[in-house]
Amino acid sequence: MYMTEKHELFRKLVKKFAETELTPEILDEVEATNHFPRELIAKYAQCGFTGVKIPKKYGGAGWDTRAYVIMNEEIACVSAVSAIYANTPNSLGGGPLLAAGTDEQLEKYLPPLARGEKIIAFSLTEPGAGSDAGQVQTTAEKDGDYYILNGRKCFVTHGPECDYAIIFAKTDSSKRGSKGISTFILDMTLEGVSRGLPEKKMGLIGAPTGDIIMKNVRVHKSDLLGEENKGFSNAMKTLVGGRIGTAGHCIGVARAALEESIKYSKEREQFGRPIKDFQAISFMIAEMATKLEAARLLTYKAAYLLDTGKDASSAAAMAKFYASETCNEICAKAIQIHGGYGFIRDYKVERLYRDCRVFTIFEGTSQVQQMVISGSLLR
Ligand SMILES: Cc1cc2nc3c(=O)[nH]c(=O)nc-3n(C[C@H](O)[C@H](O)[C@H](O)COP(=O)(O)OP(=O)(O)OC[C@H]3O[C@@H](n4cnc5c(N)ncnc54)[C@H](O)[C@@H]3O)c2cc1C
Repeated sequence: MYMTEKHELFRKLVKKFAETELTPEILDEVEATNHFPRELIAKYAQCGFTGVKIPKKYGGAGWDTRAYVIMNEEIACVSAVSAIYANTPNSLGGGPLLAAGTDEQLEKYLPPLARGEKIIAFSLTEPGAGSDAGQVQTTAEKDGDYYILNGRKCFVTHGPECDYAIIFAKTDSSKRGSKGISTFILDMTLEGVSRGLPEKKMGLIGAPTGDIIMKNVRVHKSDLLGEENKGFSNAMKTLVGGRIGTAGHCIGVARAALEESIKYSKEREQFGRPIKDFQAISFMIAEMATKLEAARLLTYKAAYLLDTGKDASSAAAMAKFYASETCNEICAKAIQIHGGYGFIRDYKVERLYRDCRVFTIFEGTSQVQQMVISGSLLR
């Protein structure tokens, strides 16, 4: 309903790419080494994935949010962690630049991002500022043409490997909460920048997550992104698109779990019959398929609203909230349908279950999405 013929053609391209290039051997290697091969990122770039939402004038493919959702969905259906590498340049990496960058900044930072040559991480969260992200303690003090950054960011996706990080720091401590925050583009090679060790995670292994620490780091004023003290709105704008992308991620993973469950329920026999013949199993599959379809429609609608210039903030929160909770439910049911085999690493559903757990947490927890939705209704 929300997709055009061109979108569906693009879907075919992404699906074929994901099924051909993301082989089980490569994916096992990614999980074993906690490293995603740069050659694959280069292949993404050749297909226009790393720049799917980046305008053509900055080296991107100039597609829209719906194509971006399709890309996340189709790659995540094969591998959740692999979708992160196509997603980030278009959302958390490129998003703040597209929301607030000057022409000069866009020309400098977007083309290498679209070409898959550089990784930009998004660093909002801190040890004391999670859901309440306005409480960031990182400071940026003006000193002539420079800002001096001090602080610690945590849980940064790509933190251990990124070339640049988008940093949200307090520039006016007299302002409370989310006011007085500015956004900076931090070159990770600057003196005083260091990285924490990659976190040992439950899932999405291969996309390392870790701290970024800044000690008296001098960032030139040309790397201030957007207006001073107005940085929090860059984060919020970025997260609207990012949440729709994550919802796309969720429907891809949920679809994989459903497809695996259908296949397995036809193959596995107990009590002399394929288990699909038991109503307890077939009704579970019916429920999984129905909820997946509802999640898909919410996600496509949110993407459509953003593409057509409407306010998509609440729709994005609904899509992310419902798709992430549903994805977790579907993956849990997929394990149940696989019985003991679902608990074993040889079966795809085991990884899907681990990978999807964070979807209700990052880019705003389900509770935060409910705050956004209820806030728009109860103003
Ligand atoms: C794998 C991974 C990757 C991540 N990547 C990034 C990244 O790239 N960049 C980045 O900046 N951050 C990233 N994060 C951080 C992520 O966005 C935060 O973990 C998330 O926002 C929640 O913050 P928190 O963990 O501090 O939980 P808390 O905010 O401490 O929340 C704990 C619990 O309390 C609930 N809660 C909090 N406040 C309320 C309230 N007012 N009402 C009801 N319930 C509430 C929450 O929903 C949650 O259930 C990542 C996290 C993970 C695990």
